[in-house]
Amino acid sequence: MSDRMLPYGRQSINDDDIEAVAAVLRGDWLTTGPAVSAFEEAVAEVSGGHPAVSCTSGTAALHIAYAALDIGPGDEIVTTPMTFVATASGATLLGAKVVFADVEEDTALIDPAIVSELVTERTKVVAAVDYAGHPCDYDALQPIADRVGAKTLDDAAHSIGGTYRGRPVGDLADVTTYSFFPTKNLTTAEGGAVVAKDADIARRAKEFHNIGLMRDPQRFRITDEGPWHQEVHEFGLNYRLTDVGAALGLSQLKRLAGFKKRRAEITARYNEAFAGVDGLRTPPQRDDVDPAWHLYPVRVLGGRRREVFEKLRASGIGVQVNYIPVHWHPVFEDLGYRRGMCPNAEQFYAEEISLPMFPDLTDADVDRVIDTLTALVS
Ligand SMILES: *Cc1c(COP(=O)(O)O)cnc(C)c1O
Repeated sequence: MSDRMLPYGRQSINDDDIEAVAAVLRGDWLTTGPAVSAFEEAVAEVSGGHPAVSCTSGTAALHIAYAALDIGPGDEIVTTPMTFVATASGATLLGAKVVFADVEEDTALIDPAIVSELVTERTKVVAAVDYAGHPCDYDALQPIADRVGAKTLDDAAHSIGGTYRGRPVGDLADVTTYSFFPTKNLTTAEGGAVVAKDADIARRAKEFHNIGLMRDPQRFRITDEGPWHQEVHEFGLNYRLTDVGAALGLSQLKRLAGFKKRRAEITARYNEAFAGVDGLRTPPQRDDVDPAWHLYPVRVLGGRRREVFEKLRASGIGVQVNYIPVHWHPVFEDLGYRRGMCPNAEQFYAEEISLPMFPDLTDADVDRVIDTLTALVS
């Protein structure tokens, strides 16, 4: 891949994936058929056995999760600013107030000590993000949420396949959301899923993602209709994943362990190469986690992030920055959020560059990134 721009992330598609999609296209169901059911069962299986609802994106998954958790005006969610905007905006769309808790200085993960200071009886959800694929400290977060009667949410867009204290992502919080965008740890093209430990929350998620439609005769309020009848008790949207996407996801799930292993190898190769380089800081890993690394977030010290970023791009290395702190987005600024509110996240943002990280990267590609970056900062 030396002659073209190396992306920071990309999908890995093999012949099995292609055949799985082609088989759906030749069959009877393009959407909400057997592939969707099989994919949801397989997602549940890697997520601690809790029910899964597939959907059209990680953004949709967050909207569904917040709706299923019944948040609305007067409620607050506590979340991290070091994430993609959808972690927060899904709650804002439903009328809730977002309270940003700063991150730990080294991991860029939400800091439980700060969450503990910010939760109140208005807090309905503590939404953590397993940034870069590294699970947060859920054994610290859950009791803080429980104390005020809130639920925990794991935005696991980066971390499917990872573990924390031997437990899989999907089993760490009350509700977990995934994204299956092409750069993530597995893909359905566009897609996502919600996993809920509580059957009632899972049911609400299922109904919200299907326009609010409900077919349970036990719960019908209109009781004199025929076998065609279905009814709506709460508003929902059409967030259904297709069988085409689900078939791809099912095939990709079989490859998840291999993806995780390759991502770990690439992380180790970068870590080793940058360990002694002044001007760079490598991502830490806590002892009790086994991440499925989605990103490799290196920190460029000495105020040189932008210069190094631009030179990497000019060298054909398609780096990215993840993320602009969410409260900096003008839509949040308009709501009164200000720079300086979360200094650790803001410092992290000022230094971060995401290096190329995806399973099909060759060792030669990784070494090219290493050599280029090392030369730039030396
Ligand atoms: C990608 C991502 C999302 C949104 O997922 P989409 O599938 O792109 O809508 C949400 N949260 C985080 C942390 C993400 O990385």
